[in-house]
Amino acid sequence: MNVIGHFVGGRRSRGTSTRHGDVFDPATGRRTAQVELAGGDDVAAAVQSAERAARTWRDASLAKRTAVLFAVRELVNARRDELAELITAEHGKVLADAAGEVQRGLEVIEYACGVPSALRGGFSENVSTEVDSYSLRQPLGVVAVISPFNFPVMVPLWFVPVAVAAGNAVVLKPSEKDPSAALLLAELFVEAGLPDGVFNVVNGDAEAVDALLDHPAVRAVSFVGSTSVARHVYQRGTAAGKRVQALGGAKNHMVVLPDADLDLAADAAVNAGFGSAGERCMAISALVAVEPVADDLVARIASRMAALRTGDGRRGCDMGPLVTAAHAARVHAYVEAGVAAGAVPVVDGRDVTVDGDPSGFWLGPTLFDRVTPQMSIYTDEIFGPVLSVLRVDSYDAAVALVNANPYGNGTAIFTNDGGAARRYQHEVEVGMVGVNVPIPVPMAYYSFGGWKSSLFGDLHAHGADGVAFFTRGKVVTSRWLDPRHGGVNLGFPTQT
Ligand code: NAD
Repeated sequence: MNVIGHFVGGRRSRGTSTRHGDVFDPATGRRTAQVELAGGDDVAAAVQSAERAARTWRDASLAKRTAVLFAVRELVNARRDELAELITAEHGKVLADAAGEVQRGLEVIEYACGVPSALRGGFSENVSTEVDSYSLRQPLGVVAVISPFNFPVMVPLWFVPVAVAAGNAVVLKPSEKDPSAALLLAELFVEAGLPDGVFNVVNGDAEAVDALLDHPAVRAVSFVGSTSVARHVYQRGTAAGKRVQALGGAKNHMVVLPDADLDLAADAAVNAGFGSAGERCMAISALVAVEPVADDLVARIASRMAALRTGDGRRGCDMGPLVTAAHAARVHAYVEAGVAAGAVPVVDGRDVTVDGDPSGFWLGPTLFDRVTPQMSIYTDEIFGPVLSVLRVDSYDAAVALVNANPYGNGTAIFTNDGGAARRYQHEVEVGMVGVNVPIPVPMAYYSFGGWKSSLFGDLHAHGADGVAFFTRGKVVTSRWLDPRHGGVNLGFPTQT
């Protein structure tokens, strides 16, 4: 059995822990590898490697750092198919979707190639007589990135390129469910010329995460995962004095107003509800139909769903399996709970015929109508291919429903009324808003992040926030000797 280890000091390595996790091919249900689950000693070794590398990497010129990032860009681009195949083999999402994930990660690498502009400080001449003042942004040192299973390439790339370009060294702790792609990424960074130890990968579970949160040399933590763990990471990390951005779970609403283009809305609901089997933090899971559109919209969505092919991601299907047997069982239980609660199963994914091994972790696309805000299929993040339609009578009722939800990651409004769309983007308490765009993931030069229980911390991922997160500001006030200097004065410095 293949055992997946760590990547420390510029090479693949094995740890000292005796704990292992199982890695599966979700489309066949077969175990394909074991992954080492790091203990405190393994984490300490990775942090030590990063600490050593950070001392010199922080002094590497911007030209050197960006040259490495440009080379990373070329290598990831050249190996994009291989990365996508690794994602599909361990996550299950279809190959085209996996390729899209790699593309979004590449865009952050490209953003990081331009980091010198983002790191530019300010300069003021003569803030006092012959005194100048200027601002710098400097790296933090060692930073940790902890990522979820659902984007094994893109989420690490939201952070690692920016952190490294800003002069930090990184320890990445990927999801133990699909750990292989992170190791290939680390290899590509080293092949591109990144000095050994600047990018380390330590595989593991909660024990490794807590060891990173407690390690005094780790200065900042970027976390992405479920809300309960995000809250824990934020609390434990900040209690230890670290800077933390912890992105959590989501329940994303798509509001359809009566004047919307219903074909566009139906296409969008299907794409955003069932892409990646609903295992996206920006998936649409609640469709809020403002009457009288619900009957017509539900019929259009159901007819599109009839054409979807669920199956092995390597066979050109539209939708793949869920990531593990346990997760599939959990999502099936939600479908049962929805039926028991009285929601109408317009399309029941439990009846799906799959193009794949019957032992895979399957559930077909599922559509519930007449869902109420009290049902667990609405209150909980299901993270599967289950789309719930809630019917409301007015725009005001729709926006009140969205704003009452504890999550605030993404949302979309479908309408042809510019005024209504503008009002929605102003009123809605959600971090990322789409207008006739169902999955409004910001480009790399903007920042990605939700509100409320979808993000703990202040700064979002990549873009200007990412650069701010991975650096700290310093302001220098300087005077160079001049024959007119001097004189003792114990008063508080003021401008003269
Ligand atoms: P998860 O919270 O189970 O795991 C995330 C990471 O935390 C993994 O590396 C895991 O090993 C670690 N972990 C798990 N339990 C832990 C614990 N008790 N203590 C410390 N660390 C722990 O999440 P997941 O199932 O891998 O990913 C799906 C979740 O991630 C969904 O809730 C989804 O919405 C969320 N997500 C959010 C965003 C976003 O941008 N807000 C993006 C992607 C995924």
